[in-house]
Amino acid sequence: MAEILEKLRGQLVVSCQAAPGDPLEDTETIRRIARSVTGAGAAGLRINSPEHVAAIRQDSDLPIIGIQKRYCGERIHITPDFASAAALSAAGASIIALDCTDRVWDHGDPWRIVIERIHRELNLPVMADIATLDEARAAAAAGADMVGTTLNGYTEQTGNHDSFNWPLLAGMVRQIRVPVIAEGHISSPEEARRAVSAGAWCVIVGSAISRPGVITSNFIRTLQPGAAAPAIGVDIGGTLIKAGLVDARGQVTLTTQVPTDAPGGRDAIAANLCQAVQPVLSAARNQGLVPAGLGIASAGAIDVQDGSVFAATDNLPGWACFPLQKFAEERFGLPTWVVNDAHAAVLAELHFGLGRSLSDFVAITIGTGIGGGVVCGGKLLRGQHGFAGTIGHHVIREGGLPCNCGRRGCLEAYVSTAALLREYRERGGSIRDGGDDAAAALQINQLAIAGSPAAVGAYQALAGYLAEGIANIFNLFDPEAVLVSGGLVEGQVQFLPSVARQVASLLHFGAKRQPCVQAAQAGRLAGVQGAASLVFEAER
Ligand SMILES: [Zn+2]
Repeated sequence: MAEILEKLRGQLVVSCQAAPGDPLEDTETIRRIARSVTGAGAAGLRINSPEHVAAIRQDSDLPIIGIQKRYCGERIHITPDFASAAALSAAGASIIALDCTDRVWDHGDPWRIVIERIHRELNLPVMADIATLDEARAAAAAGADMVGTTLNGYTEQTGNHDSFNWPLLAGMVRQIRVPVIAEGHISSPEEARRAVSAGAWCVIVGSAISRPGVITSNFIRTLQPGAAAPAIGVDIGGTLIKAGLVDARGQVTLTTQVPTDAPGGRDAIAANLCQAVQPVLSAARNQGLVPAGLGIASAGAIDVQDGSVFAATDNLPGWACFPLQKFAEERFGLPTWVVNDAHAAVLAELHFGLGRSLSDFVAITIGTGIGGGVVCGGKLLRGQHGFAGTIGHHVIREGGLPCNCGRRGCLEAYVSTAALLREYRERGGSIRDGGDDAAAALQINQLAIAGSPAAVGAYQALAGYLAEGIANIFNLFDPEAVLVSGGLVEGQVQFLPSVARQVASLLHFGAKRQPCVQAAQAGRLAGVQGAASLVFEAER
């Protein structure tokens, strides 16, 4: 028995079956499909009915997992009794798979008895097909030699699933001593590899390889206009966590927002992340929509390799080293991508904003600091640890004002909400008490529009500093445009044109180059949209 299991370790098993009524439901045809996939290197087969097992056994010595499906209305009972198991064994099956779910049937033998008789009378290993972790534990305890996720999404209790259940696999790998088999809804080579990496003993793939009708339907569905599966986008900021369902055109629906509760530390932030995502996921599923994945934008530097938080910002203490991608994948059962929030805003601009018609641009967002990102050839530059495009921390005044990164003279020390406030006060301006720097900046914004000299002067000072930073960007990347966003810029019709003129005056051949500096298009939900775009990028 151990020898058969060892042959399957880390390997691909192909399930060769056809649905009743399918033109391929024919012994000779199934036999040829089996010959084709074993010729290509499949390490084993999963085959329905003694007749098909016997036919394929004539061609192959590979392990065959035999099953006997019995249709009961909508439900399918897999190898319902010992007689079926014995017939499969006689036909040449090497392993017998059977339904070990909690479901109650009005026919067949109890599965515990079938397992015991297969061992004793047929001397074959048993694969238990289950739908839940409890069923997996019960089957392993009852002596199953391997346990497969096969029936998850197919029972009344686990219905409405048509993607692979990663948390179930992870739970089984942790809790069950016998080999865990990944089967059901594995639809791509990437998912197969991921299952083995996650600890599956082997992977069984059926429809995605052996049913051309199903494969054709999938192709046709993806070609329907607007038919691409939506994604869930999340934006974890210092104050709020926003989430929503994002379609392939960037439209956001089913939005939620919950307080981040950053002082509560990583457990509080993680719990609030779940509070924000779960309602979106449930509402989407209630509408019959199956999100293709989850994209998360988070403050802090994100490790590009594993989606963990490489370094936290002061806004999110305790977030450092949090395995964000792994946590979210296990919690929500969706493939997950993580990106720094500034980069997410750039991705939103790239996929859904002005960036759609640009191939090389730099986007910067001015707020409490400066976030930014560089797009080259239509791709966001992320860097090894997610730090690429940290435009706020390039020095425009050597030995200048102190910056919270530890250096002096960074662009961010001269252009931010706090910097606007400082410049305004230096010109004798005063602010009504109450509120933070952002609220004060909003007041100065309004005062500048109304023509207050101190406010207008403060904006002119910031335009000068920003022009120096953006001139450096043009010298480094020569982009088609620099796109600027942030509440501080809104409503200031003179601000960016003034910056653009000054940039031109600072650049070599600037008059000829006519550097384009303009307002970005992506709005308040840019983080949510940009995070979701990672899912669509991966799908392409
Ligand atoms: Zn700095």
